[in-house]
Amino acid sequence: MKYAFQDMFDIPKLTELCETFTRINGTVTALLDLQGNVHIKTGWQHICTDFHRRNSKSAARCLESDTIIASKLAQGETYNVYQCKNGLVDIAVPVFVDGEHVANFFTGQFLFQQPDKAYFKKQAKELGIELIPYMDALRQVPIFSEPEIKKIITFLVALARTFGELGKSRLDVLRLRDKEHAQNEELKKTTQELSRAKVELEKLALEDALTGLYNRRFFDEALSNEYERACRYKHDLVLCLLDVDKFKDINDTYGHSIGDAVLERIARVICKNLRKSDVVARIGGDEFAIIFPEANATQIETHLGQVCHEITSIPLTMEGKQVYSSCSFGLASLNKDDTSEKTLIERADQALYRSKANGRGQVIRADN
Ligand code: GH3
Ligand code: MG
Repeated sequence: MKYAFQDMFDIPKLTELCETFTRINGTVTALLDLQGNVHIKTGWQHICTDFHRRNSKSAARCLESDTIIASKLAQGETYNVYQCKNGLVDIAVPVFVDGEHVANFFTGQFLFQQPDKAYFKKQAKELGIELIPYMDALRQVPIFSEPEIKKIITFLVALARTFGELGKSRLDVLRLRDKEHAQNEELKKTTQELSRAKVELEKLALEDALTGLYNRRFFDEALSNEYERACRYKHDLVLCLLDVDKFKDINDTYGHSIGDAVLERIARVICKNLRKSDVVARIGGDEFAIIFPEANATQIETHLGQVCHEITSIPLTMEGKQVYSSCSFGLASLNKDDTSEKTLIERADQALYRSKANGRGQVIRADN
C-alpha cells in the first residue's frame, strides 16, 4: 500500500474514541502497524509501562508476546486472546483496509482471575524489580470474567471493522485525489506538447524548408509592417531583391541536389553579418529578399557588394566538384513617392532587372 498509515487513519479522532473506551471499562487500547509502531495507546497499566516495558528482560518478553500475537493474526485469526510472557492477558484484533491487513488493534493488560501473588513476587525477584510498588501496580490490574471478555471482543471486532472502513473511505479519497492529480498532470503535459507543436507548426508555416530562412508569406507581412513603421516614424527602409544567375544551368550541369546546396550556401553567405532586425527570406525558387529597417542605403550597398563578391569568388565544393555561382542584387530605399510597399518592391525589382541586364553578379541601386 503506497499510502502512509497516518493518511489512512485519523489518529487523533481514533485516539479520542479509544480514550472513551478505556474510561468506560478500564481496558487499555493500542493500535500498531505491522512494523510494530504504536500509533494509539490509551490507559496502559502501570505494571506494563513502569515495570514490564521498562525492565530490559521483561521488555524483551513484551516484544516477544506482541510478535506472537501479531503473527497469529497474520495467519488469518479474527481475534486472539493471549497470556503474555509477563503473566497478563492480551487480546488482538486485525484491522483490514480494502482487504489488506494493515494494523492490529490491541486491548489487554488484564487478568481472568485473582493474580497468583507468588508468581508475580517470584517474577519481581527474577527481574530485580522493587517488590512493594510492583505489587501495588499488580493490584490495579483489572480482572474480567470470560463473559465480560466475550462482550469486549465482540465490540473490538466491530470497532476494528469500523477502523478499516474509515481507512478505506480515506483511501478512496486519496486515490481519487491522486487520480485527479495524475489526470491534471497528463492534461498539463498534453497542453504543453500541443502548444510546442503549435509553435513548431507556426514556425514551419513561415519558414523555408530548404534554407531555414523565412518564406514568402512571412516576407510579405514583414515588409508591410516595416513599411508602415518607416512611414509613421519617418525612418529609413532599404529593400534588396536578389536572384541566382543562370541557376537553370547549375541544375542542368550538376543536378538538382547540388543546385539545392548552392541555394543553401548562398543563404548562409547572405545571413552573415546581418543585424537582428534585418529579415532574410527565400521568396521564390532562386530568389531571395532582405529587408533592412532603419538602415543607410549606401552602407547596405557596400555591404551587399561584399556579399556579392564572396558568392562569386568562392565556389561551393561538393562531391569533388567546384561549383561557381553568382547573384544579381537590386536595391531600393523608401522615398517620398512610395505609396505602398509595392512601389518599393517594383523599384527593387527594376534594379534587379538592370543588374541582370548589365551582365549579372552585381549590386544595382534603384535610387542612383
Ligand atoms: P537568370 O540569371 O535569368 O535568373 O537565369 P536562371 O537560370 O536563374 O533563371 P530563373 O531564375 O528563371 O530560373 C530559376 C530556376 O531555379 C528554375 C528552377 O528549375 C530552379 N529551381 C527553383 N526552385 C528550386 C529548388 O528548390 N532547387 C533547385 N535545385 N532548383 C530550383
Ligand atoms: Mg535566376
